[in-house]
Amino acid sequence: MVHSTANKVKEIKVDLDKCTGCRACEMACSACHATPKYSSVNPARSRIRVIKDVLKDVYVPVRAGDCTPAECTGRHAYTVEGKEYPECSFCGVSCPARDLFKEPDSGLPVKCDMCEELPPLSGPLCVQVCRPGALSYAEREAEVAHETPQGELEVALKALINRQGLRNVRDSVARRSQQE
Ligand code: SF4
Ligand code: SF4
Repeated sequence: MVHSTANKVKEIKVDLDKCTGCRACEMACSACHATPKYSSVNPARSRIRVIKDVLKDVYVPVRAGDCTPAECTGRHAYTVEGKEYPECSFCGVSCPARDLFKEPDSGLPVKCDMCEELPPLSGPLCVQVCRPGALSYAEREAEVAHETPQGELEVALKALINRQGLRNVRDSVARRSQQE
């Protein structure tokens, strides 16, 4: 079911001309999402990854968006200016076809959360650490369509079961239920 409401939309704009490929954004984001927080740096955990576009000789920061339960049909034909790229390099979706945007320990999909936490940060971390100014944060009011997030839980559960096995997941949920 889809419904819409007036919401504050948070955006991070990218200026490719300013990105130097320093990957400070990856490091900051991965540290922010480590457990405990800021205890380690592992770009595999980052919700932003910097991809080199070899054709245009620029770095392209890509943020993790929604996950999908199935790989898209176009992934073997990603073509830019007549040249084919291996896999879907600039896609921000966590999907079964590749390891990008998956939590390294659990294999669960990761998604940019705009560093939401309490108390709120003064702005997204990746923007704060981007010294060349390639990333900028903006907010705007907009009508946003919401879809009942029925698929997200299933994708996360499937990834967890694939990683840990159904019996372990079931036992863990049972133990947790008893503690609650
Ligand atoms: S911190 Fe900024 S300049 Fe460095 S890789 Fe990330 S987006 Fe590019
Ligand atoms: S806004 Fe925060 S969570 Fe999103 S990519 Fe940047 S550092 Fe990571």
